[in-house]
Order: sequence, then structure tokens, then C-alpha cells
Amino acid sequence: MSETIFSKIAAGEIPADIIYEDELAVAFRDIDPKAPAHILVIPRQPITSLASADPADQALLGHCLQVCAKVAKQEGVEESGYRVVTNIGKDGGQSVFHLHFHVLGGRTLKWPPG
Ligand code: AMP
Repeated sequence: MSETIFSKIAAGEIPADIIYEDELAVAFRDIDPKAPAHILVIPRQPITSLASADPADQALLGHCLQVCAKVAKQEGVEESGYRVVTNIGKDGGQSVFHLHFHVLGGRTLKWPPG
């Protein structure tokens, strides 16, 4: 997988507003937030999208989801509710090809999404 802006953020090569990190994952604020709380959770390992994750990534994917819940709590939206989304490919609206989970909260989110 080629290098992306997110792999550079994970490596500390470009700045981001990082709110949580551990040995496997990094969480930082989206530069163009779509909700009062909009955090991106990425694995440090460069996986293109959920579609290209393989069975060996199972624990890593679970860890990323647990980080989503952790940062949602940290952002104070656990009680009010929030959404975790990962966009895949063109029709999914993916623009950065390093797997990431959007954690969105702080307002009532519409369903279905556009
Ligand atoms: P997606 O469209 O699902 O691939 O989401 C990519 C997200 O990354 C968008 O919500 C962008 O606003 C966000 N984004 C792009 N560049 C940066 C950056 N340097 N720091 C933080 N968020 C970014």
C-alpha cells in the first residue's frame, strides 16, 4: 500500500490533533469536522480499507473499535450517543486510502446517511 497522509500522521511525520494513541492505533480530530465531535481512529498498520483487511487483522480491527468507544467516552458523547462509520471505496465516499473509523457525535445524526 502506498503512503498516505494518515500513515504519515501515525508515524509523526505530519501534525494532527491526536487525542489518543497506543502501540496499535491512533485517534485524532478530523480536519473538517462533520459534527461537534469528529474523531478518526486508524490502525498504525497501513491497511487500505476494511475490504482489504484479512483474517490476521481480526484482533487489530477489534482493537480499533474499542478505541472508537474509548475516544467517544473521552469526548463526552457516550451518554448522548454517537456513530462509528468506515467508508470503503468510491461509492462509500472514501477519500483517504488508509483504513479509518469516523467517530461522530455531539448532535443528532440523520439516518439514512446521504
Ligand atoms: P473518508 O472520506 O472516509 O476517506 O474520510 C477522510 C477524512 O479525513 C475526511 O473527513 C477529511 O476531512 C479527513 N482528513 C483529511 N486530511 C486530514 C488531516 N490531515 N488531518 C485530519 N483529518 C483529515
